[in-house]
Amino acid sequence: MGFRPLSIRRNIWLLYKLLCATAVIALAGLTYAHWQYLTTQTEASQRSLVKQWFGSFSSLLEQQETIITLIGQDILLRQREGNPDIRSELDRLMNINPEFFAGFALFSTAGEVLDTTSNLVRPDPPNLLQQPESKDSFVYAIESDKMVLGRTYNAPRLVIPARKAIRDTDGQLLGIMTGALKIQADSGHFAHAAVLGPHNRITILRTRDRYIQYATNGELIADFFVQPLPETQYRQLMQALQQGQREPEHPSERQATITFRWDTNSDREHVRGVALYNSRYEFWLLSEVEEGYLINQFLKTATLYIALAAAFLISMFYLFRFIDREQQHRRQQLQYQADHDTLTGLPNRNFLLEAFDQWQTGKQNFSLLFIDLDHFKGINDHFGHSIGDQILVELARRFEQALREDTLLVRHGGDEFVLLIATHADSTAAEERVGRQINAICANIAFSNMTFSPGCSIGVARYPEHGTTLDELLRAADVAMYEAKKERNTLRFFRTDLEEQYLYRVRIEQHLRGAETRGEIFLAYQPQLDQDGRIYGVEALVRWQSPVLGNVPPDAFIPIAEHSGLITTLGYHIIDRALADIAGLQQQTGQTFSLSINVSARQLMENGFIDQLLERIDSSLLGFEQICIEVTENLLIEDIEQIHHILTRAKDAGVRMSLDDFGTGYSSLSTLRSLPFHEVKIDKSFVDHVTDDKTALAMVQNIIAIGQNYGMTVLAEGVETEEQLQCLITCGCDHFQGYLFARPLALDDLRACIARESLSPTQ
Ligand code: C2E
Ligand code: CA
Ligand code: CA
Repeated sequence: MGFRPLSIRRNIWLLYKLLCATAVIALAGLTYAHWQYLTTQTEASQRSLVKQWFGSFSSLLEQQETIITLIGQDILLRQREGNPDIRSELDRLMNINPEFFAGFALFSTAGEVLDTTSNLVRPDPPNLLQQPESKDSFVYAIESDKMVLGRTYNAPRLVIPARKAIRDTDGQLLGIMTGALKIQADSGHFAHAAVLGPHNRITILRTRDRYIQYATNGELIADFFVQPLPETQYRQLMQALQQGQREPEHPSERQATITFRWDTNSDREHVRGVALYNSRYEFWLLSEVEEGYLINQFLKTATLYIALAAAFLISMFYLFRFIDREQQHRRQQLQYQADHDTLTGLPNRNFLLEAFDQWQTGKQNFSLLFIDLDHFKGINDHFGHSIGDQILVELARRFEQALREDTLLVRHGGDEFVLLIATHADSTAAEERVGRQINAICANIAFSNMTFSPGCSIGVARYPEHGTTLDELLRAADVAMYEAKKERNTLRFFRTDLEEQYLYRVRIEQHLRGAETRGEIFLAYQPQLDQDGRIYGVEALVRWQSPVLGNVPPDAFIPIAEHSGLITTLGYHIIDRALADIAGLQQQTGQTFSLSINVSARQLMENGFIDQLLERIDSSLLGFEQICIEVTENLLIEDIEQIHHILTRAKDAGVRMSLDDFGTGYSSLSTLRSLPFHEVKIDKSFVDHVTDDKTALAMVQNIIAIGQNYGMTVLAEGVETEEQLQCLITCGCDHFQGYLFARPLALDDLRACIARESLSPTQ
């Protein structure tokens, strides 16, 4: 039982785990994608930045080279004309582009200044060959026929010297032209020094001597030009560039960028960069971004993602927990509903089944009491189901109040309760005490001016003597209860002989099934006489000749047939058989007389029975007025309205109704008056003592008075002696039946009897 709900519960948390896993995977995917986006974005920005820088710096240099070449040619021209005014020429050139250039100078091959622009005129100009910072590039410029860059220096703003050898047409070296390119300018490319941000560094690195031409991260890097890049670091960088990824060649691009990654040796910082190489002027243009910065940027977003995912999962957790708790609550409710009776709130059979295991494994012995209310159906039918329900609820309440802790009370069905009580030393005393308690509980239940004291028939079975399983115990207690029912409102203990009786009943039921089709059932007929001693009718009495059980008296099998439902087919068989027997007999003898048929209360109340009965009589050779239906007085505690309806239908058809065993039941005079009976039968138990017991006599007199009062005939059954007959005649009894006149007779014997009767009609 508990298995299914548990698995639902497990499922819900499995679902949650799946959700968590999905969220984690999604988070990982998302953060990874974000990292990818961040790095490729940065890379792309760096690439375009590098191209931009590279383009403008390279074109600046080319422009400078053009100008220097021009100046060189100009100076050559003037020398040839013999009047070389170099300075004015230099000034003129510089004025073309004053924001780019700090000045121009012409040096001799020995490193001495030949002339400068006016702004650079100094008292003692330095010899470039004697200055370590300029010597190297100066020498290289002499050897080279392209423009050569020198080390960046402060003059007083930062400039890059660019030198070029000036030769005449014979290739004779005239001097070295040097232009100072402003890189800390107020306008132009360097003035803007576009970078991605302070985390981004742009470097122009000369490969010839590892000197840095220019370095900025938005602000100029301090003293970048003072020292060359250390050898090892430079090698690592070159290696990184070699291993870097070359951008796919693009026809419109002059050169492909290289994307690389390396550790700047200084503080082992990882850097991601993009580079372009200018082979003419021998420098790398590098853009570098610290990986730490990227990681920081990444972490900011990732933290947000993680926080969102965590918030989502936490809220989901609470949602799932809410659902889980709701479900658990519902399960508990359902379980409670499954285990409890809705009317009384008491535990039900399901609960008993589950609880029984615990009682069984407990150390104590215990008893099972099967409690059945007496005449509860009568209460229901008389006073309505709501009163019946109220009584049950009140009983349950009283039971629960009165019973001790170590008991379990269960509503087993309609008006049946099962009680488990732990028994200690003296179980009989305990059981009897509980029995008395229960009877006290049942007394005086008052509702709307009515007081009910329903009796209880209680059967007791003990664990483990009378059974070890719940079924065995229930059956044993039921057997005992059946015994108690005979007396009603009492308590009976299970005994093995009861078990035997029970088994006998079971056997009867088994063998009775289908007995009528096997020809084991036939009828005996007992004559009924009037005051003149004439036979005016017969009562059909069923007989069962079982090949296994022998002759079984109707008292033994009719109640079982009623209880098991076999009575329906058996009853119709009896009716058909009696109608056929008597019709045949009347045809043979030419005599007409009345036929009384016993119908069990249960069958009488069955839906459609009365229609069936009338139909069967109609299709027989007997008239409706010849038939009398005997029902026992017990019937009257059933549904009075329905009985009234049935009796009226029978009366309307002309069939007579007889109230059997009158005086033994509980029917009140008022109910008797309201029902259309033709006849009452005084029970044999009164007839037996009518001559020697005043109360019996008084009872008989009463019944006869009632009958006369309501216009009913009164029949005394079980008349055995002449004295009884005389007494009954004196009292005014109309009809008689009993061994004094005839025993129930087989059909043939009845025929003989009728024949004799017809010979001597006055007896
Ligand atoms: P009942 O309807 O009260 O039937 C009368 C019973 O008393 C019969 O017993 C009958 O044989 C017996 N009896 C009649 N006169 C005397 C007498 O002077 N002295 C003694 N000691 N007994 C006498 P039986 O046939 O054993 O039937 C017992 C009960 O079984 C009946 O009581 C009736 O309630 C039931 N029964 C019998 N036949 C049928 C039937 O066909 N249908 C139904 N539903 N019940 C039947
Ligand atoms: Ca009868
Ligand atoms: Ca009777």
